[in-house]
Amino acid sequence: MADNTSISYEEAMKNCAKEPVQAPQCVQENGMLLAVDIKRGGQIIAVSDNSDAVLGCPCDALMGSFLAECMPSDFLTSFKAADEKLKQGSDYEIFAWEAGEQSFFSRIYYSQAWLVVETEIDVTDPGLKRSCYFDRALLDISNTNSTEQTLQKLCRSISELSGYERVLVYQFDDSWNGRVISEHTTREDIEQYIGLSFPASDIPSQVRALYHVNPIRYIADVDTEDAVIVYAEELGSMALDLSLGTIRGKSPIHTEYMKNMGLQRSMSVAIFDQNQLWGLVSCHGVSAQPLSYSTRLNIHSLVKLAEQRLMLQKQFEADRFFDRVEESRKALLDRKREIKSPQQLLEDQGHFWLKLFEAVAVALISAQTQRVIGEHIDVSTLHKVRDWLNENHSVTGVFSERDCRLSEIRQAIPELPYCGVLAVSMPIDKRNQGWLVFFRVQETEVFRWAGKLEKGEVREYKGRQVLSPRHSFEQWQQDVDGYAPIWTEIQIEAAKTLAEDLAIGASAYQIEQLNQELTEANQRLEHLVHTDALTQVWNRYHMEQTLEEEVKRCKRHGRDLAVILLDIDHFKRVNDDYGHDVGDKVLKLISEAIHQWLRSSDVFGRWGGEEFLIIAPETDLESANQLAERLRRRLSNLQFDKVGQVTASFGVAELLPSEDRNSLVKRADNALYQVKESGRNSVEVSPGK
Ligand code: GH3
Ligand code: MG
Ligand code: MG
Repeated sequence: MADNTSISYEEAMKNCAKEPVQAPQCVQENGMLLAVDIKRGGQIIAVSDNSDAVLGCPCDALMGSFLAECMPSDFLTSFKAADEKLKQGSDYEIFAWEAGEQSFFSRIYYSQAWLVVETEIDVTDPGLKRSCYFDRALLDISNTNSTEQTLQKLCRSISELSGYERVLVYQFDDSWNGRVISEHTTREDIEQYIGLSFPASDIPSQVRALYHVNPIRYIADVDTEDAVIVYAEELGSMALDLSLGTIRGKSPIHTEYMKNMGLQRSMSVAIFDQNQLWGLVSCHGVSAQPLSYSTRLNIHSLVKLAEQRLMLQKQFEADRFFDRVEESRKALLDRKREIKSPQQLLEDQGHFWLKLFEAVAVALISAQTQRVIGEHIDVSTLHKVRDWLNENHSVTGVFSERDCRLSEIRQAIPELPYCGVLAVSMPIDKRNQGWLVFFRVQETEVFRWAGKLEKGEVREYKGRQVLSPRHSFEQWQQDVDGYAPIWTEIQIEAAKTLAEDLAIGASAYQIEQLNQELTEANQRLEHLVHTDALTQVWNRYHMEQTLEEEVKRCKRHGRDLAVILLDIDHFKRVNDDYGHDVGDKVLKLISEAIHQWLRSSDVFGRWGGEEFLIIAPETDLESANQLAERLRRRLSNLQFDKVGQVTASFGVAELLPSEDRNSLVKRADNALYQVKESGRNSVEVSPGK
């Protein structure tokens, strides 16, 4: 026994991982092995020392001879066909053959330069004629609709087919601990392992790797001695790699582990999820009973079928999740609806996203925006989160975290109360990277371990110090804190998609905002171009344009058109006596008043300093005269603060068929001049048609 303190648990684990389990130099006694050198015409160069018991042919007789000489003709015929297939690239081939009354199964594969032939006597499964269960099991498993159902049917079917007293499925977590998620036991006195976790150390890394090469491991009986492989003398210290075989000798550590668990026999079959080891089906037998080769193959088929069902169900789950993400995307990018700000979009969708991502808060943090849905988070904390993300993860645009103790973000921002963080960037533009961030709280994960992890229980094995298999499988519970639930690949992908949509939404919103500002600026500009700044009535530019149009229109339709030009009398005096500001005020008030007194069809504007023009469509000379007179009278009745009464002089002209706008205004101006000449505050009409 080694000194427990001389080597660490981790080193002992590593040493366990170095055990060459794939080349144990022996085979289990339920089969025999021989290896031939194909280059030497099929000469046998290795034989297991139980060949007599299996084939009825002693080891010495086989060694050095040729397959063609020593094997029966039925074997040779099948072997030839199988060997052809191997040459075409298959990893291994299996065939059945007979000699006398006995049936055999052989499995052949290449190990380095040698061809290995493993042979087992075909046993009939005792008790039940179990093969009749196989068809039923296939149907049962293919009709399952949930992971739980699939695994239950699988465990039950395998147990019925094989007679194993306990069949369980355990799934690996990301530290390679296995949790039993389904189990079937045949008797009440068989201990239940459902819900228990088995530590990663139970299956060393090289054993896990071996499942990728050969997904089935069968231990026929822990109590039988393995048969030693004898090599031809000239080969020296050779060790055949038996990874592809089924009768590979037992690892003493594994045998001890099984005995500690009270097991006599076992079989395990790997379950994969896209080339990743997902879990194991583990079959336990407490009594010695052979299991036929064909039943083992049937069990493998059932596991493969269940594996397909599981992955299909996983895909269904993912599809359902993405359907909900799509629903949200449609709402985000709905063109028929008004364009909303990213904040509004978050307000609309946030609560849905909290459920979808199983988060307690979701935040949108950019240069302009910080908004949280769910639990409250301070703005200052959000800013720190954004700055930290920009500094550390802006290149990839993704950050996810669930471990409280090792949390990078918690070390940078200790006041952040969440250890589950999933952040995806919203690439609005390079200078303004926004982030969509989901937060989760830590949860206590309960592990019910099958047996203590006996740290430091180390002993010597083949010159190395290795971890001793556990003696106790007594259950104990461990509460593991400090982790938020794992962020799945699917959730991360979905978050990225939603952040991209939000970024598109943000850009659309920005464009719309800019467009609106532009429209408003244009409107202001248009107003400025046409309006007099002091009086807010039309300016000279607008009046000239309008008059030009009106002249054309009235000529085209033969309609009347009149203009009234008015000039305030002695306005210079107002400025001189009361100041320019008072003069301005009077100009504004007069403009407002005249604008109000006119009909909406009349166009009123400032023509020059204290001169105004009225364009009166559909108005003949007489009506214009009356209008001017009315305006003159009303104006002269107004009282202005400080200034008192103000009067104006009016010149009126009606459009003649032969004239243009300049001539029309000129005639009104002439009439106005006459009023000024003759004493002001009156109306003069330019002679008409
Ligand atoms: P008349 O009766 O002959 O029209 O006399 P008047 O003083 O009104 O005529 P004149 O053309 O000599 O002077 C016009 C005055 O109007 C001169 C100018 O100071 C004043 N005026 C022109 N535009 C403005 C303005 O925007 N604000 C102010 N306060 N005064 C203005
Ligand atoms: Mg004037
Ligand atoms: Mg004047």
